Amino acid sequence: MEKPSPPLRKRPVVDRRAWWLSASSATEAQTRFFEGTGADLELADTLVENAVGWMPIPLGVASGLLVNGINYEVPLATEEPSVIAAVSYAASVAARTGGFTAGAAAPIMRAQVFLEHPGAEAAARLEASRTALEAEARTHLASMERRGGGLRGLSLAHLTDLDVLVVRLDVDVRDAMGANLLNTLAEAMTPSLEKALGGKKLLAILSNDASLRPAWAEVKLSVDPERARRIALASAVAQADPQRAVTHNKGIMNGITALALATGNDTRALEAAVHSFAASSGTYRGLSRWTVEGEFLKGRLEIPLALATVGGSVGIHPTARMALQLLGSPDSPTLCSVAAALGLAQNFAALNALTGEGIQKGHMALHQRRTGATA
Ligand code: NAD
Repeated sequence: MEKPSPPLRKRPVVDRRAWWLSASSATEAQTRFFEGTGADLELADTLVENAVGWMPIPLGVASGLLVNGINYEVPLATEEPSVIAAVSYAASVAARTGGFTAGAAAPIMRAQVFLEHPGAEAAARLEASRTALEAEARTHLASMERRGGGLRGLSLAHLTDLDVLVVRLDVDVRDAMGANLLNTLAEAMTPSLEKALGGKKLLAILSNDASLRPAWAEVKLSVDPERARRIALASAVAQADPQRAVTHNKGIMNGITALALATGNDTRALEAAVHSFAASSGTYRGLSRWTVEGEFLKGRLEIPLALATVGGSVGIHPTARMALQLLGSPDSPTLCSVAAALGLAQNFAALNALTGEGIQKGHMALHQRRTGATA
């Protein structure tokens, strides 16, 4: 295809939409559908560059997820059939024994400044300048400090083989993802860090590693003892076999990523952090563990989650705002707790199906409904 001329970035959004319809050879039916979803062209134009319209993903609700004694109706944006049905089923099983308990650590994210060829004795130089550097960081974080968040740590690591120093600034970002704040902080601190520690900036940016802010969920289920034994064994298999672990964890993320998308969160950051955590032992492993304890099947999931309830497109996309309102306008740790419970619910549903009749029966019924719709 020829490059659009004039370039898309130089055209108003309505022109770009017209170009899209013509360049993609849209049929009449496709045009009608696309224009029906394109009412908010101006908003699309605010959110991304070269916007031509919207790519709607079905939005559904997983019903009856009981977390810390509170019932949640959970909005999920996903194109995959069976995800919402699976969570709703697992939620109903869990509700019989009190539902999920869940929690999340303080929302601490890390910015990194990488300095090439640092001066000698960087650790000692940091200690000599620590008070001044921390005070400067706090001035850049004033609004977050006022919210009860702000600077939580300043530390170093040395990549000795590369002779690159990593300066790590840990910040409690409250209800935001904190990407822009941390990037701004890292860049603003760079001249003072270069001066204090020696070396020259290579790059300065937040880390999407979210291991400083784990969320967790637990559940105790009353299920058939033989099924419980098989689910526990299947979860042990996901610890021992990395290829199975990938699919095990994909199932856990089916619900969590759909919740992230429905609430306007950054799904790429979320997934990168979770899969890095799954490999943190040096081998990629399943994120959840199921064990048989007496008459119960007990499940636990612990994962780093950096889900925001303010900022980015969370604050701009009207559907994301509605999704958060449906959840009772939670703060970030509450949203992360619900997400962890959701992941564990999804995981139980998958393991229950896999160790029973398999997943294809349910999948194929939904698949047939779908192909019927497009026939
Ligand atoms: P943001 O820039 O919108 O900042 C959050 C805003 O919310 C701040 O202005 C803050 O003052 C305000 N705020 C109001 N109430 C708050 C509360 N209770 N807690 C915390 N802040 C509160 O958003 P962000 O979180 O800095 O950045 C998120 C965006 O950055 C996402 O769209 C993400 O995709 C994008 N991004 C990501 C990366 C990355 O992941 N590597 C890099 C660059 C940008």
